[in-house]
Amino acid sequence: MPIISKSRFVSGIQCSKKVYFDVYRKDLKPIISDQQELLFSTGHEIGRLAQKAFPNGKDASPESYYDFTPSINQTKQWINDGVETIYEAAFSSNDVLAALDILHQTKNERWAIEVKSSSELKDYHLSDASLQYWVMSSSGFKPDKFFLMHINTAFVKKGEINPNDFFTLVDITNQVIEKQLWVEENIEHLKKVLSFKEAPIVEIGKHCNSPFSCDYIHHCWEKIPEQSVFNLYSPKGLDWKLYKQGIVKIIDIPEGVSLNHRQILQVEGQKKATSYIDKINISAFLSTLKFPLYFFDFETIFPALPILDGTRPFQQVPFQYSLHIKQDSNSTLQHKEFLANPIDFQYGSSVNPLKALIEQLKLDFLSSGSIMAYNASFEIDVLKKLSIAFPEDKEFIDDIISRFVDLLIPFRSAWYYKPEMGASASIKAVLPAIAPEFSYKDLEISNGGLASNTFLNMITNKFNGDEAKVRESLLKYCERDTLGMVIIWEELKKCII
Ligand code: SF4
Repeated sequence: MPIISKSRFVSGIQCSKKVYFDVYRKDLKPIISDQQELLFSTGHEIGRLAQKAFPNGKDASPESYYDFTPSINQTKQWINDGVETIYEAAFSSNDVLAALDILHQTKNERWAIEVKSSSELKDYHLSDASLQYWVMSSSGFKPDKFFLMHINTAFVKKGEINPNDFFTLVDITNQVIEKQLWVEENIEHLKKVLSFKEAPIVEIGKHCNSPFSCDYIHHCWEKIPEQSVFNLYSPKGLDWKLYKQGIVKIIDIPEGVSLNHRQILQVEGQKKATSYIDKINISAFLSTLKFPLYFFDFETIFPALPILDGTRPFQQVPFQYSLHIKQDSNSTLQHKEFLANPIDFQYGSSVNPLKALIEQLKLDFLSSGSIMAYNASFEIDVLKKLSIAFPEDKEFIDDIISRFVDLLIPFRSAWYYKPEMGASASIKAVLPAIAPEFSYKDLEISNGGLASNTFLNMITNKFNGDEAKVRESLLKYCERDTLGMVIIWEELKKCII
């Protein structure tokens, strides 16, 4: 019988077929992405910091993740010896294995502490904590208290991070005790599933994306076409209702189904390849713009462990921007840019990279003209945080904020629609629909996630490539984004003529 680990348990709670694939169809598992690698590495850093809140513990981590027996024996021994704190304490009972981040015991109480790199307690945290409680109890080491330790988002960095301020401890003892019967039933169910000769039959459903996006969607969903009912804009359950009636493609949605305006455009777009242009609203939108026009985009990092003093966990911290400027309708396009020096993010640097960015903004923006961003609330939010951190620049930043216009509006409001946009109004869907020849394919860094991860690796000394080359790639990527916005604006102007 395969061992049921915490991750298999959580997987099996989501879907029986998923846990079966985890165990018997490793060939179906996709390669770990850079984004997942970054999450794992952040998780480890957060785990190490959490250990500092319970210092001088003994580490029971296994030498090999294929054999937990030495860890289990070591944990038992240390508990019996009265060791106060054990990291990665391992327990096993009835072919179920659980490794706990921190076990802390005083004379009177035994605490189980599970560390999460998230900003709050989530429902699925209770599932795996409940399994851990069950394994600990069944193996004779029942905890008196069970805590979840998550990141305190109100924390603001000032010098070295104090783990006692950085984390919030939540007592979830009663919740995990309440789930013990549920845990037992599910262990029995999973054991049964894992004894099957073949994968259980499970239809696709909402569970494929809840609480996590399943690793096997590429396999189970392979027959779902690209323009399916699941691509409908804001379906609010209509997608599954139609699917259950046997309607899979958007083009097969019959007359009479109640759809909102944008969904109607989408269905008509698929059936008849028709576009939609609302000239009145687009004209009104364009008439609000004042020259010089600025096309602006930030790139940010949002580390769980804040790097700069004055920032919070997960705060969007800008490290780069691109700015295209059009002085008037006949002028040539100008380009300005900023990319911080990674060294300036290091502790003790004489240059504050955010201050350097603000100073550059002051040089690049004149005192009038509309500033366009795509999904401008993001840029505005980043600027608002800067104005709080640098009150001496508040007046300048507030003025910039007051001049923002969101280029997303005509697309989110469905004043401009092309079938190629599908359900999305994001710039990555709108640009190819408007200008199919405009692409990011020739770029080494071709999306915001990669730009962010790359820069984060550079400032945390995890990057070992050619820094000069990567800086060039980052600049090219961000420039392409604002150039894309210029193309969108030109298209809007053209379509109302
Ligand atoms: S894609 Fe859906 S049905 Fe397939 S294994 Fe994952 S959760 Fe189960």
